[in-house]
Amino acid sequence: MKDIEKLIEKYAVAGPRYTSYPTALSFSESADKERLAELAASRDAEASLYVHIPFCRSLCWFCGCTSSVCTDAAVADPYLGLLDAELALWRDSGLGKRKLKQLHFGGGTPNFLTPEQIMRLGGIIEKYFSIDKSDCEFSCEMDPRTLTAEKVKAFADIGVNRASIGVQDTNPETQKAINRVQPQSMNLEAAEWLRSNGITNINVDLIYGLPLQTAQTFKKTLSDTLDIGPDRIALFGYAHVPWAKPSQKLLEKNAIPAPEEKVRIFLEAKEFFEGAGYEYIGLDHFAKPGDPLIKARQNGSLHRNFQGYSTRAGLDTMGIGLTSISETRTSYRQNYKLMEEYSASVLGGKLPIERGIILNGDDIIRRGIIMDVMCLLKVSYCQYGVDFKTYFADAIKGLGEMEKDGLVEMRGDGFEVTSLGRLFLRNIAMLFDGRLSQGGQRYSKTV
Ligand code: SF4
Repeated sequence: MKDIEKLIEKYAVAGPRYTSYPTALSFSESADKERLAELAASRDAEASLYVHIPFCRSLCWFCGCTSSVCTDAAVADPYLGLLDAELALWRDSGLGKRKLKQLHFGGGTPNFLTPEQIMRLGGIIEKYFSIDKSDCEFSCEMDPRTLTAEKVKAFADIGVNRASIGVQDTNPETQKAINRVQPQSMNLEAAEWLRSNGITNINVDLIYGLPLQTAQTFKKTLSDTLDIGPDRIALFGYAHVPWAKPSQKLLEKNAIPAPEEKVRIFLEAKEFFEGAGYEYIGLDHFAKPGDPLIKARQNGSLHRNFQGYSTRAGLDTMGIGLTSISETRTSYRQNYKLMEEYSASVLGGKLPIERGIILNGDDIIRRGIIMDVMCLLKVSYCQYGVDFKTYFADAIKGLGEMEKDGLVEMRGDGFEVTSLGRLFLRNIAMLFDGRLSQGGQRYSKTV
């Protein structure tokens, strides 16, 4: 443990999570929006759809998502109308009726919607896309505090087949300190409703580094997680960025774990989940053996996007709704973050793209390498169409240092990430990032 702690001290720097490359900090309002729209419509193929539901019943003080707090579900009615109108604009701009291989509802809280609104959303999506329900990973983030059996049934009826239950931490003291009181009985009830409605693929999302957490208190959360019986677990490190998310200041009323304790919590959790039979995918993800994520890593189809790891590489991702990010092979674009601007754009008949980036040749090469590090845990120099050792001479020097630390193993024609190196994937990927200076210290710590 001591050696790992030393390495963590050495490598804990500010850096991206690489859900995209270039990261969102490189997106620009001056990007050519017409070209971005053309690139979105240029491939009539299979696709992945992300739908953002930007409402929550109350604010969790750690939260970094784009969401507004409301108690009246009726606020979502006009928003669903805007999603419908946005998709109509895309259809009119030439986007054909794509076949969805992946669909994700995120937020905010998708289960802020009533059962009727969930059914309406399902109908809107079916108007513009075709979905083969037997071959589409259709996932939804769920908050047990506002979930009901009727909502779960509605999600199942429109085809949801995977749910991510937001648990975070089951310790009542930590829950009070983050303004998210959620007894374990609610988590168990949510899992039961999901399974009895046929949604048997269950993820649990946890967060370490929250106030009043210690490796000792977190043990209960770990065993509570096993009681829920998820097939995937995401254990996210809390990123304290109060300059960007002022509500996080409220967490400072209670002790936030020191970096060494945070590391201890993560390492003990990793050991616990591995001991319980889960495989560490890397970064913050664990999955049961035989899970599609593990198979996707083995057959090279693991991908990373704004929702984290995904099993479907090579798909364009289309994000609709407030603040959603979309991805094509050569571009990223993001919708407006403010409701007034998003709504004015859609109602005015204009695609609601606020910013984006069209990748240049160098970005495309670096993106390929960074995604291979993050997803496949190996890089073969011959695959990127450049004289790798010359093009990335500085990165190779950095890899030499990481090899001494046991994070990578160099081969003549590439390198592989070791099992220790999986803890430092972001640092390894950073060696190939040509735009780090554009994000500076605004990123969270890598470990
Ligand atoms: S963590 Fe989820 S439920 Fe809590 S405020 Fe953020 S989006 Fe809403």
